[in-house]
Amino acid sequence: MDFRREQLHVEILDPRRRFERSRALLEIRFDPLTGQSVRILPSGSFSPPAAFDLERMAAETRAGCPFCSERVESDTPRFPPEVVGEGRIRRGEALLFPNLVGYAKWSAVSIYSAERHVLPLEAITPALMADNLAAQVAFGRAVVSYDAASKWISFNANQLPASGSSIFHPHLQGTANPFPTTMQRLLAQVEPQRFRDYLAAERDAGERLLGSTGSIDWFAAFAPLGPAEVRAFVLDASSTDELADDVVAELGRGLSLVLRAYADLGYQSFNLAAFGAPGIPGFPLNVRLVARGYYGPLQRSDAMWSERLHWEGAVDLAPETVAEAGRKRFADQ
Ligand SMILES: [Zn+2]
Repeated sequence: MDFRREQLHVEILDPRRRFERSRALLEIRFDPLTGQSVRILPSGSFSPPAAFDLERMAAETRAGCPFCSERVESDTPRFPPEVVGEGRIRRGEALLFPNLVGYAKWSAVSIYSAERHVLPLEAITPALMADNLAAQVAFGRAVVSYDAASKWISFNANQLPASGSSIFHPHLQGTANPFPTTMQRLLAQVEPQRFRDYLAAERDAGERLLGSTGSIDWFAAFAPLGPAEVRAFVLDASSTDELADDVVAELGRGLSLVLRAYADLGYQSFNLAAFGAPGIPGFPLNVRLVARGYYGPLQRSDAMWSERLHWEGAVDLAPETVAEAGRKRFADQ
């Protein structure tokens, strides 16, 4: 397993230093699974994520929120009874129902709690996360037992508008579809053994490990797709519907710790995706998260031509720095 990186020196005559010659380091890294390349710029190349007023955003969106307890029963859809007998799925405080917007043949939204319109990342406890994941696992099982062709199952998250969420109230999203997404297809072409080799190489290197929650190791992506990408593999589940209860609890704990580390780094918004490759023996469930910056109207988005059209991440936060922040949180568990 090689962690390929190429270093380039970018030379300019710098107007900030009376046009003296300056050289900056640009590192290009290649993902060990897909070969996808990313650019790591010097720290401080981009503005840090802006602080924003979560309570003010909560106050502005609470009246009329379809996911708050006053409206969630009347304003959210139900599944047909032949798919989910009760129409919606409940686990602890979590509640799962169909998405009004059909992103896949089967699309679900699951709120952490109808009582929690505002949920800072540091307040997403292991139990809140695990119950929400358990609802997603039940959704996946219900769909594939009714519609076996919709076997490409995932659970995902957009948290806050900066990450693509149209509803402020925190939630996860699930999908089940007969066709894989592009990334599901690309990863399904990777030999299952390669994920194990990658994990073993990260364990040996150590510098990108955040910590372990028991059977799952959490590590910063060597070649991150976006800011602060963290990954984990569940080796004995090749799809979300195969996750055992104790593994769901462990994933809840790990994700809660990663989100606390994101909050430590100044982020309150993130994207999450977890999926495997159904029918490929030994294929591990992949869990990936990226932090998302929140920016004002005249500040840059964290996705530009590079990410959107070249499929090339460009970040100024080194994975090894992300791991350092994560290790502090994992050490406290
Ligand atoms: Zn709400």
